[in-house]
Amino acid sequence: MTKSLVELGDSLSGDVLTPSDREYERARLCFNLLIDRRPAAIARCVNAEEVAAALAFGQAHGLEIAVRGGGHNPAGHCAVDDGLVVDLSRMRNVAVDPAARLATSEGGATWLDFDAATQAHGLVTPGGVVGSTGVTGLTLGGGIGHLTAQYGLTCDNVVAAELVTSGGSLVSTSDDEDPELLWALRGGGGNFGVVTRLRFRLHPLERVIGGRLEYAGDGVRDALRAFRDVDARAGSDLSCQAQLTLDEAMVPKLVVVPCYTGPDADPEELRALRTARGLAGDGVRPQTFLDQQRVFDPGYGVDRNYWKSHFVRELPDELIDALLDRLTALGRPPGAILIESLRGAPKDVDPTTAALGYRDAAFNISAMASWLDPALDEQHVAWARETAAAIEPWAISGGYANYMQADEPLERVRAAFGPEAFDRLRALKGRYDPGNVLRRNQNIPPL
Ligand SMILES: Cc1cc2nc3c(=O)[nH]c(=O)nc-3n(C[C@H](O)[C@H](O)[C@H](O)COP(=O)(O)OP(=O)(O)OC[C@H]3O[C@@H](n4cnc5c(N)ncnc54)[C@H](O)[C@@H]3O)c2cc1C
Repeated sequence: MTKSLVELGDSLSGDVLTPSDREYERARLCFNLLIDRRPAAIARCVNAEEVAAALAFGQAHGLEIAVRGGGHNPAGHCAVDDGLVVDLSRMRNVAVDPAARLATSEGGATWLDFDAATQAHGLVTPGGVVGSTGVTGLTLGGGIGHLTAQYGLTCDNVVAAELVTSGGSLVSTSDDEDPELLWALRGGGGNFGVVTRLRFRLHPLERVIGGRLEYAGDGVRDALRAFRDVDARAGSDLSCQAQLTLDEAMVPKLVVVPCYTGPDADPEELRALRTARGLAGDGVRPQTFLDQQRVFDPGYGVDRNYWKSHFVRELPDELIDALLDRLTALGRPPGAILIESLRGAPKDVDPTTAALGYRDAAFNISAMASWLDPALDEQHVAWARETAAAIEPWAISGGYANYMQADEPLERVRAAFGPEAFDRLRALKGRYDPGNVLRRNQNIPPL
């Protein structure tokens, strides 16, 4: 096998890393340090032909295959012990056609790459809120961010894709060419092939009113209610997310991150948030979209993570109280609870255009345990599971595939699509990847 890996390396313009290479230790790491896997090799491809060669090599040598874009998936699907990682981190070009308002990104581009390229022309597509996240991985699971209310889920803005199937064929899809595959890529993850290109619709936008509002102590409950009420009455020019945490002194903190793109210099919704009880810090101001994209940036690969989310139909006072109770339940800062609004444009999109099935939800609420000490693994994982259980009475439509760990049961993956769409996805999986070679993902078993 060592000899064959050398041959694979020689055949690629990219490179093949093995444990003896200096860059291997860094290249095998995921965002989530809870995942600690040692692949036999990491093939850093530079084009679709090399992706096909790597896929063929892995199968010929009986290696389990993982696909890596930005390396952010909390389940660590991008890494596999003793297997082959098809790594797209060298395929990050983003080509913009400003006249047609389209951008084509390669399979390993990050949001930092994408936003830099599109903002150079004053254009955007709604993406993720952290620059180092992979564009393709995020899009294939849906995509929620600072412009969801304005322009929909990220996958709603995909107009075409090119992928390499596990059998080595290069396949294209658009509204005119195999539209069933495009439907599947809008939520169905990396099940159908290695995506080498995605084409997105762009929208003109350069400046927003956004930033962070921080609330602390006793006012947090009222502030979270204000967030919910403002979100309910806002128009499609305001996206809003909220994050609950605890500081070291066990005092609850709430961060609300609005992103307003309408014509008003001082919109009523933002005034209501900025005057809510508990306000401890106001960083909201007119700023560039690129500055808004930096509001949440965390470090990469610094902590251990276990996330579990539920889409909910509403955020009543009882659920707010349950979330605040769960925040202190561990007896030390547990990580965060993230609340992402799905109001606005996702509801206006024809639901039959995408496989995903959670458009009716009001919010995605995620228990995001994060910690540093491996000795605390069990406690933090239990906290996330129990917190998700406390949210479950209000849940609809399963969980968000992009935040799922690897231990989610098939039933919850199925519920994220609904039974009919899930069967359609299984049939397509049978067509494009009948041997389930691409199974290190929120897997859709082939029919
Ligand atoms: C810090 C952080 C911030 C995040 N922010 C957001 C956010 O704002 N909004 C949101 O919706 N989600 C967000 N996510 C979740 C994120 O969308 C998912 O974890 C997504 O899977 C990450 O994609 P990736 O390429 O970075 O990850 P990877 O771990 O590299 O890939 C994850 C999986 O995606 C598939 N995949 C990736 N690239 C390809 C490809 N080219 N072809 C085929 N399959 C591919 C594969 O199945 C792969 O196993 C965030 C995650 C983190 C850790």
